Amino acid sequence: MSNREQIKKRVIQAAESALYHRQYVSALDVFMGMGWLQGVHIQDWKNGRKPNIEGMIQGNLAKISFAMKCFRSWALGKGLKPSKTVYLAKTRGPKRALQFSKSGDPAIEGAYMTHYISPLLTEKKREKVKEKLEKQPELVAFVIKKPSQCSRCHKELGKGCVIYKEGADGLCFKCAGFEDLVFLASGNTKLTRRTKKYSPTHLVVVEWSRARKRYERQGLMVQVDALKKAQDELKDELADHERFLLLVEE
Ligand SMILES: [Zn+2]
Repeated sequence: MSNREQIKKRVIQAAESALYHRQYVSALDVFMGMGWLQGVHIQDWKNGRKPNIEGMIQGNLAKISFAMKCFRSWALGKGLKPSKTVYLAKTRGPKRALQFSKSGDPAIEGAYMTHYISPLLTEKKREKVKEKLEKQPELVAFVIKKPSQCSRCHKELGKGCVIYKEGADGLCFKCAGFEDLVFLASGNTKLTRRTKKYSPTHLVVVEWSRARKRYERQGLMVQVDALKKAQDELKDELADHERFLLLVEE
């Protein structure tokens, strides 16, 4: 089998598998499925730490563009419905669309942005998929493992401090513009959900677990007044519930 035929075969295998599991598939799913791209690269890119994702894909541009072509003709041949999704960077400030390709060429960007959705899904389910794909990603803050300092104000940050990453910089919460946020540890699902609802600005706090080799969620940074409002509401609800129990017992 020629090199090209081999690539084509692997593209189709990866695409079929993604489609089978999720009812939709994009070029990035295919590259992941082929092992040409790692999840960690996608994370870095979405967090604004890489200028584009194409540079992270294994193989030269000719190989990548051939694989993209195979994917597109496979998808159209199967009668899948194309749907473009804008990916937004997980950075603060104005929403910024992520760039996929090295060149930024609109036609190539369009090809990367396209998800192909199974025609077997109902119109309503297709809309749901689109909605899910376009959801604004959550901001993330990192618990640091060793003492560091803020890249901007040079404040010393001890082990266990939470920082916000912007490009290659690690910022203290003051410099990142999140000074008014407080930490709410994971554990109380009800309180977390309620607080999040009232806190338009919030960040997910994660810490790297050496043992598990992945980031683990520690809690949220939320607005103080949102946390207080949620706590008060839940306290009231609990009081109502206890009053109710007393009535039942009587
Ligand atoms: Zn700072």
